[in-house]
Amino acid sequence: MSESQSSSADPAVPKVRFAPKTPFTEALRQREAAFFSASRYGRTDHPFMYLKTFVLLGSLVASYTLLVWGGLPWWGAAGTAVFLGVVMAGIGFNVMHDGGHRAYSKHAWINRWTFYSLDLLGGNSYFWYWKHNHLHHAYTNIDHHDTDLEVGALGRLSPHQTHHALHRYQHLYLWFLYGLLVIKWHLFDDYYNLAKGQIGSNPIPRPKGWDLFHLFAGKFVFSFFAFFLPLYFHPWYLVLAFYVLACFVEGVILAVVFQMAHCLEEADFPPAPSEGSRNTLDWSQHQLATTVNFSPRSRFLTWYCGGLNYQIEHHLFPKVSHIHYPALSKIVQETCKEYGVPYHCHPTVWRSLRSHYRWLFQMGHPESPTTPPHPVPSQS
Ligand SMILES: [Zn+2]
Repeated sequence: MSESQSSSADPAVPKVRFAPKTPFTEALRQREAAFFSASRYGRTDHPFMYLKTFVLLGSLVASYTLLVWGGLPWWGAAGTAVFLGVVMAGIGFNVMHDGGHRAYSKHAWINRWTFYSLDLLGGNSYFWYWKHNHLHHAYTNIDHHDTDLEVGALGRLSPHQTHHALHRYQHLYLWFLYGLLVIKWHLFDDYYNLAKGQIGSNPIPRPKGWDLFHLFAGKFVFSFFAFFLPLYFHPWYLVLAFYVLACFVEGVILAVVFQMAHCLEEADFPPAPSEGSRNTLDWSQHQLATTVNFSPRSRFLTWYCGGLNYQIEHHLFPKVSHIHYPALSKIVQETCKEYGVPYHCHPTVWRSLRSHYRWLFQMGHPESPTTPPHPVPSQS
């Protein structure tokens, strides 16, 4: 990451400029390199990843087969659809996400095909790559650049977004709307991005050639398995009901894991920069200011969430397999302590969920005395 970059060609959205690399970041890089010099494993191609992928893709095939051809009673089919939603989110966290960051393997083709699991699940890898790698990771929690903060007019996640009267209830209703995000993504977002040639206010090169073919081929393959094939065996209302149920579960899990990392009281939300201003933090410090870990001692969550409960380590070292995050977190915490850089972590999911709930309430009640005067330390 260079110290001066912009996600946007829109002249109304000024460039984001980070401070030059600090001794803290230098130390972090050196210690990460020393860790892998001493480790018997490289940054990628960890054997556990291949085992995980086999378990998750096997669970996807098994639950889908059971749902379509299992002859289950309604309650058995509903339980299987819920499980299918859990598995789809798990593939997103573990297989697709590492592939998309090129953290799965040193072989480009393995990263590419693991990343394509997103297209199999109904999303589009081309637009996700721009939205996630270029906008979210580079400009975390910065308005107009990190489009993960933009959930539509019904949600206000950042103190710099416009407040509407309805937001006063968002701490209650937004949890339900999280469940609809995946369906919106499947049926609307990718086509809208293609038509507009931008994500949020950020112009994106439209997919051409293979990428454009891949977009439509992926949507067709997903539609075949999600709708056309089941419709051959079941009435349309059952196919629709179980599609919505599985995607609702997947959407809630994906959204909540993201929100617990970035949209809560401990995270910083620097305003979009004004022309000529510079972030006083360097890029690594910015990632630590805007990202929060949760439940680091839960082996199950570390396994299921693809290490995204160690979101700080993911943001600092996105090209490292997530299997290494728990070990790297010790290095990061020690370095933060040594250089006086805050490291935010909630010990449990419950504490993290409560913090997100309170953040939603505060963003819905900007006049409330419970709203802390939000610091803007990272802009000069
Ligand atoms: Zn990521």
